[in-house]
Amino acid sequence: MKSNPDLKKIIRQHAEMEEFFSGGLAIKNLTAERAEKKLKITPEDSVVKRTAAPEIIAELEKIAEEVRRCCCCGLGKTRTNAVPGEGNPVARIMFVGEAPGADEDAQGRPFVGRAGQLLDKIIAACGLKREDVWIGNILKCRPPDNREPSPEEIISCLPYLERQIELINPEVIVALGAHAARTLLKTQKPIGQMRGIFQEYNPGLGQKPVKLMPTFHPAYLLRNYSEDNRRKVWEDIKKVLNEIGLTIPSDNKRKSH
Ligand code: URA
Repeated sequence: MKSNPDLKKIIRQHAEMEEFFSGGLAIKNLTAERAEKKLKITPEDSVVKRTAAPEIIAELEKIAEEVRRCCCCGLGKTRTNAVPGEGNPVARIMFVGEAPGADEDAQGRPFVGRAGQLLDKIIAACGLKREDVWIGNILKCRPPDNREPSPEEIISCLPYLERQIELINPEVIVALGAHAARTLLKTQKPIGQMRGIFQEYNPGLGQKPVKLMPTFHPAYLLRNYSEDNRRKVWEDIKKVLNEIGLTIPSDNKRKSH
């Protein structure tokens, strides 16, 4: 049987990403005591701010329901499932991507395909779990053939995310890729000029700006597969952990590929 070079490449990339983002990181470097507690989060390094108020949980669920019924743009007709976003209602960190892809459209959940698996590794490398953070997108529905979101789609969909950000009130938003960063920052600057530098997301009148860290999208990392790009993303993420006072897992065991 002929071997499939693409498949081999994908398997190798996954193994290397796994090693880079989790090998020798959080779990291996935990103190024996914390490892024994199986990453149980202690109050000293709490990854969430407080207990979620029932009204915040209810309002987030209301938004999710609105998203699932939404027909504000043409994507309402082509989607299988809307993807409202998910995670901790009092997350300190929100990850925001561009739009659901085929896997997300099929499952109604954000970042569950290949890019999502890489995002999971990045979150794990932070010593966190998916349930500790909130994950969503600028668009709640998949653009057919994974084309770029149109300006009209962004304009009609963005208010959902803005309301979610206001309710969750994170300490840092990590904007994954150019679309997320440009949309939230209302700028046209290239991602290369912004990534790695804290920016400010302005939620609106009377509300405090939220720190926003633009970084490369996991799908970009998979397409532009290099040690340099992985390192850049990890450097950006370390700045986020540092900003909110979370322990940065040691990366001295990280290997070069
Ligand atoms: N890419 C995104 O931007 N969002 C997802 O949910 C999945 C892939």
